[in-house]
Amino acid sequence: MATDPKAAPPKPSNFLRGIIERDLETGAHAGRRFGGTPGDAAHHRAGPPDPARIRTRFPPEPNGYLHVGHAKSICLNFGLAQDYGGVCHLRFDDTNPEKEEQEFVDAIIEAVHWLGFDWNAGGTSHLYYASDYFDFMYRAAEALVQAGLAYVDEQSAEAMRETRGDFNTPGTASPFRGRTPAENLARLREMRDGRLADGAAVLRAKIDMASPNINLRDPTIYRIKRATHHATGDRWCIYPMYTYAHPIEDALENITHSICTLEFEDQRPFYDWVLERLADLGLLARPLPRQYEFGRLNLSYVVTSKRKLRELVGEGIVEGWDDPRMPTIFGMRRRGYTPSSIRALADGSGASKTNIWLDYAVLDGCLRADLEGSAPRAMAVLDPVRLAITNWAELYGSADHLEPCHAPAHPQRPELGQREFKLGPEVWIERDDYAEAPPKGFFRLYPGNKVRLKYGLVVECTGAERDAAGRLVRVLARALPDTRSGTPGADAVKVKGTITWVGVADALAATVVLYDRLFTEAQPDAGGRDFRSVLNPRSKVVVEAWIEPALAGCAREHHVQFERHGYFVTDRVTHRADRPVFNRVTTLRDGWA
Ligand code: ATP
Ligand code: MG
Repeated sequence: MATDPKAAPPKPSNFLRGIIERDLETGAHAGRRFGGTPGDAAHHRAGPPDPARIRTRFPPEPNGYLHVGHAKSICLNFGLAQDYGGVCHLRFDDTNPEKEEQEFVDAIIEAVHWLGFDWNAGGTSHLYYASDYFDFMYRAAEALVQAGLAYVDEQSAEAMRETRGDFNTPGTASPFRGRTPAENLARLREMRDGRLADGAAVLRAKIDMASPNINLRDPTIYRIKRATHHATGDRWCIYPMYTYAHPIEDALENITHSICTLEFEDQRPFYDWVLERLADLGLLARPLPRQYEFGRLNLSYVVTSKRKLRELVGEGIVEGWDDPRMPTIFGMRRRGYTPSSIRALADGSGASKTNIWLDYAVLDGCLRADLEGSAPRAMAVLDPVRLAITNWAELYGSADHLEPCHAPAHPQRPELGQREFKLGPEVWIERDDYAEAPPKGFFRLYPGNKVRLKYGLVVECTGAERDAAGRLVRVLARALPDTRSGTPGADAVKVKGTITWVGVADALAATVVLYDRLFTEAQPDAGGRDFRSVLNPRSKVVVEAWIEPALAGCAREHHVQFERHGYFVTDRVTHRADRPVFNRVTTLRDGWA
């Protein structure tokens, strides 16, 4: 599989690429120095010129598993850095002490790596934790207080809400807004030292209570919250708000282009306010990071909200975060989507100023495009019934004779070699390759019709046996002499149908899981609908199948195209060499339209 992101085709331009190209041309971020690690203005000023032409970052909150929307953001941020001689940082935005866990940190690291990206550049690992910046964030808060740019507000939460105003009404000043810097500083230190109860006070930026942008009406920048943080433990009982922390994280890391989703557009003025003030105060180095917003990626037939994904897992609707029907990166991986198919989905969807909906079929198309040229082929019979060749002994002199057959591992790639299997007096075929009374256009097995057993020989159907209940138990046929594939004159007998098969004598038993979309509606949660009401009852169908012997002993996460059936992968959890389990990633064609 092509997992080298650099091997991908050139990406279409988009507004972010336009901005970066313009910035590189005008030298907007030139002259930056980089202290080798994140740090304040003095730290970076002492360093050499930043070797990275741009810096981007992917900043997940470690409070859940990443999904396809995050994959979009990963590909965008890491991809832009790669394309423009930059570096992309992986930063855990772990400023909220309550919901974050090490398990998610580990899973995120693994997912980003698996997608093919790395945060090492020039021997430095740019993997960061926002919680490492708590000291600086607090120092910056004191500086804002001392400059008269922040104050401790001890109004109740309700009063704060009420005095904020709304779209039509300007806010009104808090009675605490006029405190002196010295009073505020003393109070802030009391907050920090645990002398105030949770919720008793907050630190607010002092901006403009009448601003038409409600986010600028003295937003909260610190709150009191006694909670044990996964990295800093009980060291802090005050925590910075995301909107204050995020611009600081970007600036400390020398980020040039801080790319986020559209819902943060209204926060951009505050992002700039924080950075400009702290740069004026000499704490942060200029030029400062700039925030750019792009539209979210939504995929049809899935839900991506973390809450809804958690419900799917918690209620047992799926079998875990990595259930192959989940749009999590781990789910998609286990299902068999390759890193390059996910990157192709992300890159192909560009970046625009509106949220986009991509049809799930696009992802399947990307997977087929990735695997068509690389996945080895094999035959598998998913709904098996026996086909008996009744003149076998007559033809080969013995009922035990097995005729060796071979086929290319890949039709366009002879260098991948041949697969070997044996044709005998009984083979497994698909149940629906036989019809007593053939519908119009049916060219497979029915009494009197001839078909080719692919890579084998031509047989003529003579009938079938059914059990008392009428269920098909055996299809009967006679083989035609001198029709062996690859022998002279084999094509003298013309047939309209070719069917896939595996030999009863040498087939391997395998469990095959036919995965399909989890929901029957493109937008399962549209208009507030409960997604539980539109679950696809056939999203997971387990069958016991027969597969080609060449697949014996294959490893986990091995991709294969089962001829006629689609792309499959050995399950990365349940597959065993002696008990194969294959997941269907997708069929060969889109059957949903
Ligand atoms: P969710 O809302 O699904 O829980 P989130 O935004 O809370 O996701 P974060 O961990 O904060 O999750 O996201 C990390 C990054 O991924 C952010 O920069 C965010 O904007 C981006 N991101 C999340 N979902 C999408 C999406 N659907 N499309 C593009 N980017 C996304
Ligand atoms: Mg978020």
